[in-house]
Amino acid sequence: MADYHTLIVGAGFSGIGTAVNLDKAGLRDYLIVEAGDGVGGTWFWNRYPGVAVDIPSFSYQFSFEQSPAWSRTYAPGRELRAYAEHCVDKYRLRSRIRFDTEVSGAMFDADENLWRVELNTGEVITARFLVNASGVLTIPKLPDIDGVDSFSGVTMHTARWDHTQDLTGKRVAIIGTGATAVQVIPEIAPIVQQLTVFQRTPIWCFPKFDVPLPAAARWAMRVPGGRTLHRLLSQAYVEFTFPLAAQYFTINPFAKRADAAGRAYLRREVRDPVLRDKLTPRYAVGCKRPGFHNTYLSTFNRDNVALVTEPIEKITGSAVATADGSTYEADVLILATGFKVMDVDAMTFDITGPGGQTLSAFWEEHRMQAYEGVSIPGFPNYFTVMGPYGYVGSSYFALIEAQTHHLVRCIAQADRRAAHRVEVRQEANDRYFAEMMRKRHRQIFWQDSCRNANSYYFDRNGDVPLRPASTPEAYWRSRSFDLDDYRFTG
Ligand code: NAP
Repeated sequence: MADYHTLIVGAGFSGIGTAVNLDKAGLRDYLIVEAGDGVGGTWFWNRYPGVAVDIPSFSYQFSFEQSPAWSRTYAPGRELRAYAEHCVDKYRLRSRIRFDTEVSGAMFDADENLWRVELNTGEVITARFLVNASGVLTIPKLPDIDGVDSFSGVTMHTARWDHTQDLTGKRVAIIGTGATAVQVIPEIAPIVQQLTVFQRTPIWCFPKFDVPLPAAARWAMRVPGGRTLHRLLSQAYVEFTFPLAAQYFTINPFAKRADAAGRAYLRREVRDPVLRDKLTPRYAVGCKRPGFHNTYLSTFNRDNVALVTEPIEKITGSAVATADGSTYEADVLILATGFKVMDVDAMTFDITGPGGQTLSAFWEEHRMQAYEGVSIPGFPNYFTVMGPYGYVGSSYFALIEAQTHHLVRCIAQADRRAAHRVEVRQEANDRYFAEMMRKRHRQIFWQDSCRNANSYYFDRNGDVPLRPASTPEAYWRSRSFDLDDYRFTG
């Protein structure tokens, strides 16, 4: 007998969505374990200045819990944290979350058909089903630069921002120009004495219709018709600009115009042609995640901001040294260097299947794959919310709702059949993987220029484990996949 019917790892929006869907299906015997002391996942950990969502808030929320409280078209991080708290309270999840608890490993017990999950406290919890909702942007990636550990000033990764540090009047160096840096740089540039930005690969940046929501719009969010209208418009915009542009690149005539739009915006924002050239990406928009900000590019026009494109050689005491022999003194070093993503070492804990093989080893051997992005052959009773070939590139909430619907259908069916073991069939997984391979040629990622992008979308095999599909297709398939693609036994 397992301690819990289901164990959910992570109290971010994936974990919250899983729990709400389990409750709706009457499967109430679950526990959520969460490493932090609060809910919201990525929004709990990422509190750097300027943190905000890049997808309109009308879409960046659960369809079943649409908030009338967003203050802007793109909510700031603290509102998303508050929204997570609200969901947890409204759906009565708090008492079922164990905070400050990390999973250190999970092993399937084939005799008992359950998971033995080891916690950092040393305790072992057993659960019939294990749902990995630990997210994809979870483990901060530190740059592999000589001396980064021995910088004599203050060092902080953007995902672990130290708000006790006042940057006013300081010399600050920031490494990285990804979507996070796009938000941090304009926010801190006006207060620091000197900001030196170390850029390895430039990012495409686009303006953002980021405005306060007028009272009338917020009122409209309280009435069903108004809510639906906001949602529909927002979903259409997101679908058009993200999945339809990236996943259907070769057949979408509008997608190919994005580079020209990006260059025109650069011309408008950056006066100096040399600086503008350095900020111009040499790859197609969409090869890697673009940024959205109204003042990121123009921030480089400031006198106290310097853009360095020479490769970093090492960090020496209080300075960053580049390959051309220059050194840049700093009081604070900010690592906007992202997360371990799309890779076998991006797992927060080891998952060991009945044959003794870990999931990382399985992916190492067979390339990253998962049936509908949710389940993996050889790993019974295990489901993941953000697995390979699940995400189409739209709002993560659309992904979470589709994937949690899928996994709850499986778990509920196992219970109906009194099955203790549910496992995706090899042939169903192979069919899905072959479909992904067949359809991926139409994605943006296979353009020659993407080789210059240094994009974390590519894993070590050169695969991009993103789903070549639209959001409605992923939604529909989570409701219509054949349950016989799973084997229910025990
Ligand atoms: P990221 O996109 O992985 O960017 C990391 C940056 O650090 C890149 O510019 C990278 O350069 C640079 N870098 C890494 N190691 C380096 C080294 N050794 N030397 C020099 N430069 C180095 O990480 P991120 O900006 O944190 O964004 C991660 C993801 O978070 C985004 O893609 C997005 O999905 C999400 N995000 C979302 C929002 C939002 O919705 N509002 C906001 C922020 C982030 P290369 O490009 O050359 O590798």
